[in-house]
Amino acid sequence: MKSLESKILNEGKVLSETVLKVDSFLNHQIDPKLMRQIGEEFAARFADAGVTKILTLESSGIAPSVMAGLTMNVPVVFARKRKSLTLINDLYSAEVHSFTKKETNEISISSEYINQNDVVLVIDDFLANGQAVLGLMDILKQAGASLAGVGIVIEKGFQDGGKMIREKGIQVESLAIIDSLAEGNVTFRKEGAL
Ligand code: 5GP
Repeated sequence: MKSLESKILNEGKVLSETVLKVDSFLNHQIDPKLMRQIGEEFAARFADAGVTKILTLESSGIAPSVMAGLTMNVPVVFARKRKSLTLINDLYSAEVHSFTKKETNEISISSEYINQNDVVLVIDDFLANGQAVLGLMDILKQAGASLAGVGIVIEKGFQDGGKMIREKGIQVESLAIIDSLAEGNVTFRKEGAL
């Protein structure tokens, strides 16, 4: 997606050979117009998948997911990283090791919001080693729901997550795929080349 790639080139900060900071439009401050375009792009790419719900992870997955949910006219559920006082009964939970924070979190959703009749699109901000997506897929399995596919805003194609999830036969749609962050430069994969 060209507008996303331009935004990454103009505002992204390469923190190391493996970490990109995009706090100015996705992870801290949010660019609503870009999020709307991202939501519409996810909706177009999964238009025929029969999606009934979107599942994401707090907090950075929420903005693109809500925009996709608005376009697709389906609700958005976000898994919580910390147990809250109100999230107590009938939980589906999974362990997720965070690539950026180097810690393991238990993520949970209430069983009230996803069930075996749901066809779920999983959305997240970044795809690195795939741990967050695997955790969300684990939750869907516990709920007995079907997976429509995975929508990612920024995939780091030099890490293993995308390959691992595609090898399971799952449709993964990443709106920007980065092949390298070497020497402080962002290099994108050409569209159509996976
Ligand atoms: P994974 O679970 O695929 O290893 O990592 C994905 C998660 O880690 C995303 O939910 C995202 O929050 C975070 N993440 C991974 N790599 C990056 C990165 O380069 N930049 C930012 N901002 N977040 C990342």
